Amino acid sequence: MTNTIPELYGSLVFNNKVMRERLPKDTYKALRKTIQSGTHLELDVANTVAAAMKEWAVEHGATHFTHWFQPMTGFTAEKHDSFISPSGDGQIIMEFSGKELIKGEPDASSFPSGGLRATFEARGYTAWDPTSPAFIKDGSLYIPTAFCSYSGEALDKKTPLLRSMEALNAEALKVLHLLGNKSVKKIDTTIGSEQEYFLVDKNLYKQRKDLLFCGRTLLGAPAPKGQEMEDHYFGVLKPKVASYMHDLDEELWKLGVPVKTKHNEVAPAQHELAPVFDTANVAVDHNQLTMEMMKKIADSHHLACLLHEKPFEGVNGSGKHNNWSLVTDTGENLLDPGKTPAENTQFLVFLMAVIAAVDDYADLMRVSVASAGNDHRLGANEAPPAIVSIFLGDELTAVLKSIEDGSDFLKQKQTLMEIGAHVLPHFAKDTTDRNRTSPFAFTGNKFEFRMPGSALSVAGPNVVLNTAVAESLSQIYHALKDIPESERSTAIEDLLKELIRKHKRILFNGNGYTDAWVAEAEKRGLWNLKSLPDALPQFIAEKNIDLFTRHQIFTKEEIHSRYEIILENYSKTIHIESLTMQDMVKKDFTPALFSYVSEVSKEALDKKKLLPSLPASYEEQIIKTLTKASEQIATALSNLSADTLQAEKMEEPLAAARYYHDIILSDMDALRAAVDQAEAIIPGCYLPYPTYDELLFSL
Ligand code: ADP
Ligand code: MG
Repeated sequence: MTNTIPELYGSLVFNNKVMRERLPKDTYKALRKTIQSGTHLELDVANTVAAAMKEWAVEHGATHFTHWFQPMTGFTAEKHDSFISPSGDGQIIMEFSGKELIKGEPDASSFPSGGLRATFEARGYTAWDPTSPAFIKDGSLYIPTAFCSYSGEALDKKTPLLRSMEALNAEALKVLHLLGNKSVKKIDTTIGSEQEYFLVDKNLYKQRKDLLFCGRTLLGAPAPKGQEMEDHYFGVLKPKVASYMHDLDEELWKLGVPVKTKHNEVAPAQHELAPVFDTANVAVDHNQLTMEMMKKIADSHHLACLLHEKPFEGVNGSGKHNNWSLVTDTGENLLDPGKTPAENTQFLVFLMAVIAAVDDYADLMRVSVASAGNDHRLGANEAPPAIVSIFLGDELTAVLKSIEDGSDFLKQKQTLMEIGAHVLPHFAKDTTDRNRTSPFAFTGNKFEFRMPGSALSVAGPNVVLNTAVAESLSQIYHALKDIPESERSTAIEDLLKELIRKHKRILFNGNGYTDAWVAEAEKRGLWNLKSLPDALPQFIAEKNIDLFTRHQIFTKEEIHSRYEIILENYSKTIHIESLTMQDMVKKDFTPALFSYVSEVSKEALDKKKLLPSLPASYEEQIIKTLTKASEQIATALSNLSADTLQAEKMEEPLAAARYYHDIILSDMDALRAAVDQAEAIIPGCYLPYPTYDELLFSL
């Protein structure tokens, strides 16, 4: 291995440089064409690519290959086959064919399919996605693939993402060409996803069933210190954390993941990593890889990495900011205000397309970030509220207002504001990025969607965003396409006015954490979908099925299958949490509680035996408090247990999810309150698992 970072970077990736070096010229050209414009790859070309890939992989120590895919579990999946092939005489050769590269046939029957694929046709297939580079990990060549059923229905997260990128490309190109920007041939979505996570000591982690089974603590009295000193954010990295981050950076660099930023986050033991942005498909793959490596490297550092959205009560949870923009093959960022009048118009058109999209499909945006874990964050004054709104900053808001009113916003600066004729002011990042409470903020030359949770695959939110923007661009195109060139500029201005008038209700620059905003949002008719069961019915609302089918992102069946998978996943998650909590309370906490009460009682009795006149009011107080708590625990535990049995009988997915939300989560809250109250006065040494004090301040 080399020492310099530029040499290290991408050293385990079959990237463009390796392709150019190792493929015959014709093959290289054919493959590049496939990557850039999605053309079909002939089998003989695939054979040549496969042979070169295998040779390269074997030189780098690989013995196996795997089709790497992203089923609906939210995790990645892989099945490894070795390159070996018997060559008679008891010998083997290392082989890898074009067919093996292009298509795999994993048994799909044990992946979530939401009833899409009857079990008798259990085979699914994986198809090579050449737009995301293959790489080597743990002795295998990883080939990024899409995962579909035999009849072509998407069973994964990559397929709809690729479809949505295509839809957006098609619609954006039409608009761009109409605006006169004709040299552009392709438009990609770019994504930079900032990943938050917690690190705790591995031995402590292993002692808690809730962390092991659920990824979050279900019990635990708060530590005396939380995040109130604001001393962790951007604080000095502790040596163990720094060493972990160093190794993580290096391993990710080798895999061609352009990780750039690392720092401590708000909560104790919380950190963040951010990469340089990339095209959506590659960025999503890289984020999956990042999450996986975070856990793996943690393990080798005797740490556990928690990606759950809310591992600890009382301190911030973790999110994943999804920075999103559009870039042309000529290198232009379409959300960059630009410097010329033409760029100015183009920017405003694309800006309004995004605003219209988010307003029209705010419900879907909310659906796309719904998970049992993320429900603990959204609206909890540490993350954006569950109400989707857009922050533009005062300056840009004023620009839109002046367009709407036909007034001259920049008069003070002696610049008449007229679309297409004058230059927009440069929006410095600091004027647009102040408000951290907004779910969807314009940050100078991109939008930052701040609702996704830390554990989520960002494929989903980007599918929604891409498709919704494709739709609003399509509407813009249809509104303008038949207008003669000479009238176009006025037509654009009128259209912008109309769009601003129609969609300004989604714009909000104020503090999203306040009750006043909740009331105001309701007045404006904005969605406030507080929980996953509240949000999910919108996934199958007619307007949303229309959107997805019109742009060929999902069929109606695919939407229904996903709807079911998400609801079932939610209920199963809370079911596991309920069982884990009952188990911990019964087998771990209760024995600790009783032995402490018994110890204190014994101590009081001993004292009385020695000198009956001695007071024992402190002991009595402890015994009384803990007895009261144990009574509460007994009641709460039997409620949770009975209601969970009830929940298990529910079959209709939405009704079950609602029941888990309304009944089981409240039961769990009641049980936790009683246990935590007791835990606060029981010495740590009585508990068979570590407390918040130890977990949050262990490193
Ligand atoms: P923050 O203040 O939120 O940390 P940064 O400017 O550091 O903001 O950027 C955060 C993320 O946004 C990074 O991952 C960065 O690569 C990404 N980003 C920057 N420009 C774009 C773009 N044009 N498209 C998508 N993501 C972008
Ligand atoms: Mg950010």
